[in-house]
Parts: sequence; C-alpha cells; structure tokens
Amino acid sequence: MEREYHVCTGCALLCDDIELREEEEENKTTIDSACRKGVAWIKNCQQPLECTVDAKNATPQDAIKRAAEILTNAKNPLIFGMGNSSLKAQEKAIELAKKTNAFIDDTSSFCQGPIVEAILNDTIKSCTLDEVRNKADVIVFWGCDPSNSHPRHLSKYSYFPRGKMRQRGWEEDRTAIVIDVRKSDTAIICEDNFYRIPPKADAEFVGALTEALSGKVPKVTFGMKPKEILELANVLKKAEFGVIFAGLGLVYSMPDLSPMENLLEALNKKTDFHLMPMVGQYNMRGFNHLLFDQTGFINRVSFEGENTDHGPQYSVVEVLKEKRTDAALIIGSDPLSSLPGSIAANLKEIPTIVIDPCKTFTSQIANVTIPAAVTGVECKGEAIRMDGVEIELKQMEKSDKMADADILKKIMEAI
Ligand code: SF4
Repeated sequence: MEREYHVCTGCALLCDDIELREEEEENKTTIDSACRKGVAWIKNCQQPLECTVDAKNATPQDAIKRAAEILTNAKNPLIFGMGNSSLKAQEKAIELAKKTNAFIDDTSSFCQGPIVEAILNDTIKSCTLDEVRNKADVIVFWGCDPSNSHPRHLSKYSYFPRGKMRQRGWEEDRTAIVIDVRKSDTAIICEDNFYRIPPKADAEFVGALTEALSGKVPKVTFGMKPKEILELANVLKKAEFGVIFAGLGLVYSMPDLSPMENLLEALNKKTDFHLMPMVGQYNMRGFNHLLFDQTGFINRVSFEGENTDHGPQYSVVEVLKEKRTDAALIIGSDPLSSLPGSIAANLKEIPTIVIDPCKTFTSQIANVTIPAAVTGVECKGEAIRMDGVEIELKQMEKSDKMADADILKKIMEAI
C-alpha cells in the first residue's frame, strides 16, 4: 500500500513526512515522525474554543452575523494575527481589511519581520531548507535554539542529515556554530563552536566579524580575544555554502539589520552565504508574502478606501497603545499573552472578535468567539514554510468545524 504523508503545522518547518498509523487493538492513532511539539499540536488543544456572542453560547451563524455587525459599525477596525492561518484565510483577511478600512498587522511586526522584508526586497540573500540539507557545510545558529523551538531542524535539514553534496553528514561534512547569550540545548550539541556574547552585543559582534573579514584586527568591548573572532571569520569565509539561521535573540538585539547586511556582503565577496529567519508560527511568512505582493509591505498596513498606508504607527502595538482602533478581529493569535499587558488591555475597551481553534486569554475577553478548524489537521490548505517555499497541507482527521478561510468568507458576505 502506498504510504501517505502529512504535513505538521506545529512550527514553520512544516515537516512533510508525518504518518498516521491506526492501532486497531488499542483503538488509537499513532503519529509517526513528528517531534513532541508536533504531536502535541496535532493532538489539538486541551481547551477548544466555544462559539459565543457576549459570553453566551451561540450558533456559528449568529456569531458570524454579530462579527459582521461589529466590523461594519467600526470606523477603523484592527485585524491581527494570521500566523497560524492558511494562505486562503490570510487572503480573505486582507480582502476584509480593505473592505472595512482596517489596520492589518501580524506577529512579524515584533519578531522576524525585518528579515523577511529584507529577503523580499532582495537586500539579503536567502536560500531554501533543501539547499541547506544538500549543500551547506557551515551553519550558524544565531540567537536561536532550534532544538527546542523547531525540534527537527537539526535532524531533518541543517546539521545531521546527509545531503547530495554532504554525503558524510554532520561529523565530517558540516560545521555548526552557535552564537548566543546563553548555553542553549543547541549550543550544547555544537559545544566546540559555541560563542557566548553578552546581551545586546550582537551588532558589535557582527561588526567585529565584518572587520575580521576585511583583514583588520577585530575588537569588541567584552572579553573575547581578537584571535577567537579571526578564527571564526576564517571558518565562515572558507564555507562553500553557508547559512545563518537568525532567531529572536538576534532580531531583538539588532532591530536595524544594516550591520548584518554588511557582514553578508563581506562574506559573499569570498563565498556563498545566506540568512534565514527562524520563523515560529507555521504561516507567518505566508501572510508577509501575500501582503507584500498586494501592497509592497509585509505588515503594519492601513487601508482607507483605495488608499494604502504603511508605517510603525500602524503596528498592532501602536494602534492599541494610541487607541486608534474601535474594534478588533484577532485570528489565531493571543495578543493578551504576547503583547505588553498595559497595551493589550486596551482590547477590553473595544468590541473584539476572536477566531481560533483554542481558548486563549484574548478569547476570554472577546465579545464574539468563533472556533476554527486547525489547518493541516482538521482541514486542508496551503502555507509558506520558513524558507519561502509553498507547501500543501492535507487534512488528517474529520471535523465539523469551519476552516478560518470559510469563516472570514462568511463574515465578508454578511457585511
Ligand atoms: Fe512539527 Fe515543527 Fe516538530 Fe516538524 S519540527 S514535527 S513542523 S513541530
């Protein structure tokens, strides 16, 4: 019998080799190949979201009608989230934002956005995960800990697997380097090549490496000797195919990417080096790509009739902080747990709609909650992997829940 593989949407690695095995005797389904995080995701949330209007149980039709009323009555609603939504749902959300003069933003606004933007604008060279598996001989994990955030990253793509040009695998054919402020689990695996830097010293260290590559003696204000930096620069420049996986530690410490652009430029004069964001939510990049295709921006957009505006003032943080919005539609996200409390608390003052498979802190204060199917588990869809490759997501199990794309379509129709 031909084996059927599914895709795990537990993180933006979108592992495509997941098998479901029915164990008839025990009457259960075993999930093969997924990591512990993926299994937990596929088994679904402990507390499914209920369909409610004003905290009372409601039918999906009534909840959709009320959501449409809220968005119709709002002057400038905020649409936020979508990192865990299918491409089709994201498309619908952008359409809805245009129709309702909304601000639209996603989590990339306060995480990997600058890197995705630089890749889409071609100011940073990136590559695919398959290229990493087949070609990469120098891999740098900078400010990230994939052993915990993307548990199959090292085994499936970056370090351990054999690739077309890396037949001897990690022991002889690949060098993995960790640059971080703490000795993470990934740093323990790459112990011989762990460079500990102080918090907020990323830009300084990037600058020192760039100096080392241009033949100068690199100096830093923390206790790392020039010899150590020169040795690292030497490993990087001798790579045949190198990649830096950039985590939140790097992004938060270095919001201005220009030092990294300079380092990559210096490296690419000598070798072939790439940067890839360690995207968390499985389809954050999908939203960025779709919005970029339509507006030239990846997030923080305001639609006002035919006009499109963009800027930091339209980020979810600023829109809520400055109380610029009079209603919110939150899709597959939990701003009450991810944004500063004083800012997210402003959601309590405006009508809020939540579409999500699971209960969240935000759903508990929402006026309307609509349960959605988990894409890739309870419904099918498409998504864009952390490396920009589009992946088809199959349905794993039957569900009577609506897909988020269908919920948004019905809200649009009711407006
Ligand atoms: Fe799922 Fe991510 Fe684990 Fe792969 S690494 S199985 S995509 S959670």
